[in-house]
Amino acid sequence: MTPAGPGPNHSGPTLSGYGTVIVGGAVMGSSLAYWLSENSDHDETILVVEMDPTYQLASTTLSEASIRHQFSEPVNILLSMFATEFIASFHHNVQVGGESPDLGFRDTGYLFLATEDGMDVLRENHEVQRSCGADVRLLSRGELAGRFSYLHVDDLAGGSLGLQHEGTLDAYSLMRGFQQRARHNGVQYVTDRVTGLRTNNAGDRVTHVELASNAAVACDRVVNCAGPRARWVSDLVNLPLPVEPRIRGAWVFDCRTPLEGPTLPLTIDINGMHVRTEPPHYLAGAPPIDDAAVDPDDFKVRDAEWEEVLWPALAHRIPAFERIGVTHRWAGHYAYNTLDQNAVVGPAEEIPNFYFCNGFSGHGLQQSAGVGRALNELITYGEYRTIDLSQMGHGRIVRNEPFLERAII
Ligand SMILES: Cc1cc2nc3c(=O)[nH]c(=O)nc-3n(C[C@H](O)[C@H](O)[C@H](O)COP(=O)(O)OP(=O)(O)OC[C@H]3O[C@@H](n4cnc5c(N)ncnc54)[C@H](O)[C@@H]3O)c2cc1C
Repeated sequence: MTPAGPGPNHSGPTLSGYGTVIVGGAVMGSSLAYWLSENSDHDETILVVEMDPTYQLASTTLSEASIRHQFSEPVNILLSMFATEFIASFHHNVQVGGESPDLGFRDTGYLFLATEDGMDVLRENHEVQRSCGADVRLLSRGELAGRFSYLHVDDLAGGSLGLQHEGTLDAYSLMRGFQQRARHNGVQYVTDRVTGLRTNNAGDRVTHVELASNAAVACDRVVNCAGPRARWVSDLVNLPLPVEPRIRGAWVFDCRTPLEGPTLPLTIDINGMHVRTEPPHYLAGAPPIDDAAVDPDDFKVRDAEWEEVLWPALAHRIPAFERIGVTHRWAGHYAYNTLDQNAVVGPAEEIPNFYFCNGFSGHGLQQSAGVGRALNELITYGEYRTIDLSQMGHGRIVRNEPFLERAII
């Protein structure tokens, strides 16, 4: 399959115009559709174009679906803290006729581990997190050993633990919640693939979205929510976007001897390996040995990663994990921003009615509610009114000025 275009020659019908056309209807596209359609100051029509309504290969449904407040940049912390708020009133926010999907949020916390070398970064991040209101605590090696007796701590200096509002939820239900309410509010979803973007003669305005079905849709603006395929949508108007699909595996396993003590928080080891409970199992992942761009249709699980990297790392950190058995596994794609691994959100300076909502790497699910709300403000009022996402703007890509987040998984 070609990532975005070109499609057939676009001599087909022109559909009636829309205010906003959103490319991609998974968690980001549907969050934006939700917020725009909930906003009584926004009275334009909204069309979501989604090429795969099963969403079976979307990052959203292949996600590990966890939320943390432990980032290094305030904007990322605030986005996740808003996710916590949104989740708390999810039923009220998205219900239609009194019904809403069950998010199943589990407040398990995140635990970042560090060697002596890594403690300074952990302390600096801790200060930023506390100043944003996150409930986090630094733990010494002794405190780690006392609290998590199953951990091997000899090579650690300490850790940072989220005390509340960090955990996991059902990603599909979050997406479905946005979708059901957006549809209820009048947003239209169409199954099709965006294959072209037509601009005016000056080339500074998108006028039509071209679809694989041969139709063209007139619109006032376009928002790129195409996940790992986002670059191919930007290519359609020759705008640079350093976002590429990167494979990430997830392995679910059972342990012969279940761990004693409190639930295993989402524990991030010094080498990037991470593991958490996934009742009644455990779930683990790690950055691949060869972390390179992959074909957007390549979802092959790299089993060597499990044998060579993940299992040894798990058994080192938690000796009980010497005796485990994989029950199932899958691979999904990060939409990985090679400049700085942070999101790219907002309009293109060269084509101001083309908006980016891309490059969320491994933290887009938790950012979806806050980013959708903020982008709705920018589109409706011309300014951010809640969380200011200016630092995530596309201008930094053009100027090659990274906006680095240090707590990346
Ligand atoms: C293994 C893994 C673990 C993760 N863990 C976490 C986590 O713990 N916490 C967290 O917050 N995030 C996590 N993430 C990241 C998170 O899942 C993503 O950032 C988020 O789901 C991105 O949503 P999206 O809507 O931007 O992209 P996607 O979910 O990929 O959706 C993009 C949609 O666009 C559609 N599309 C693409 N091109 C076109 C086109 N030309 N025309 C029409 N439709 C098109 C696709 O079909 C797709 O449905 C993880 C991701 C992976 C892969």
